[in-house]
Amino acid sequence: METLEFSGEEILFWRKKLLSNGGRAVDLDWLLDLGGGLQWGELQKLLIDPSQSLTLDQSLDYLASLWQEHIDKQIPLQHLLGRCPWRDFELEVSSAALIPRQETEILMELALTRFDKNFLGLWADLGTGSGALAVDLARSFPHAEGHAVDCSQAALSLASRNLKRLAPLSNVHLHLGSWWQPLRPWWGKIGLVLANPPYIPTAVLNRLDPIVRDNEPHLALCGGPDGLNAFRKIIGRASKAIVNNGWLMLEHHHDQSDPVLELLIKAGFKDVCYAKDLDGIKRFALGRNK
Ligand code: GLN
Repeated sequence: METLEFSGEEILFWRKKLLSNGGRAVDLDWLLDLGGGLQWGELQKLLIDPSQSLTLDQSLDYLASLWQEHIDKQIPLQHLLGRCPWRDFELEVSSAALIPRQETEILMELALTRFDKNFLGLWADLGTGSGALAVDLARSFPHAEGHAVDCSQAALSLASRNLKRLAPLSNVHLHLGSWWQPLRPWWGKIGLVLANPPYIPTAVLNRLDPIVRDNEPHLALCGGPDGLNAFRKIIGRASKAIVNNGWLMLEHHHDQSDPVLELLIKAGFKDVCYAKDLDGIKRFALGRNK
């Protein structure tokens, strides 16, 4: 049985050696944390005082093999581990859906400033992917009824596993189909809708970092020639599907705030506004049905 106890010096030497062959320290430290169980704070203590020994969850050899695969084949660490922390839980992730991004956590926060845990209505997550938003909505609004939609069966299966594990008691229905179409029976009743649809313009897709472009589903990234195809479809039907005064909250690309807000205004939405991401970029568009 391989020992998983390592001296501080051993861990720091290992880290320095791997980084000398390329890659970012922030990513290797993420792997040490998620894969090895060495939290960032503990690593900082080790950097100051390497004399202590620590027990890791995995061997340094195993973690090095994952790191090498990440560097050589440009595969996201999240795919190699099959996991990704998001908000206050850890999702199963795979190439079936987008790896949940940090900025999308803000979309959830925008919902939480307008709805509390006693929300009794219906919510929908359009283009649920891994189910990140659906899981958080289900955990945040335990008395509500949820509907998560995706046009990929592989993504829905992933979302279903995440929901079963992370929100086992929730009342969430999964639907295979395009945007509003599978939700037709609930049109006019939905009180809160979140979506992080594909919004990268086709021409920009090829210029994305290869680790994103070559590993994450184009279905979840590509928003058509101007990146706005999904917004036209979602906003176009939103006033029929959402209840009066219900909210639609969307994530979009860094330069799409004006056109997405305009689509919302043209669709007759009120209280239309934007919200910024952690870099101060207008990244979210919100509006309320009349
Ligand atoms: N934010 C993602 C990225 O930069 C794209 C997400 C999306 O298209 N919805 O890769």
